[in-house]
Amino acid sequence: MVASRSARERKARAEAGPLASVKIDVDGSQQFIYKIGCTECVAKAPAKWSAYRAGEDNGYMAAMDRWTFHLTQKHPGAEAPCLAYLDAAQQRLHERREGSLDS
Ligand SMILES: [Zn+2]
Repeated sequence: MVASRSARERKARAEAGPLASVKIDVDGSQQFIYKIGCTECVAKAPAKWSAYRAGEDNGYMAAMDRWTFHLTQKHPGAEAPCLAYLDAAQQRLHERREGSLDS
């Protein structure tokens, strides 16, 4: 059974930690699009930061990886459950870069 959008949002919010604002959209082909924004960067700057990238993979894993990198780079003291997977996120980033070199 596919988890509902609100259940997915709750899970993603829990993983992303207190600085994140998580919203899930559904695109035309019924794919879930994860939009993770940074509440602290929204408060500081008019150009708010978001893990969403138009035209890129915005599935759970890709969006959460980008969010994890944002946290480690911009908010080094922040706490979030997703930071536990930083090593895995870096590995995936590495693999994506390797993959894009081949194509
Ligand atoms: Zn931020």
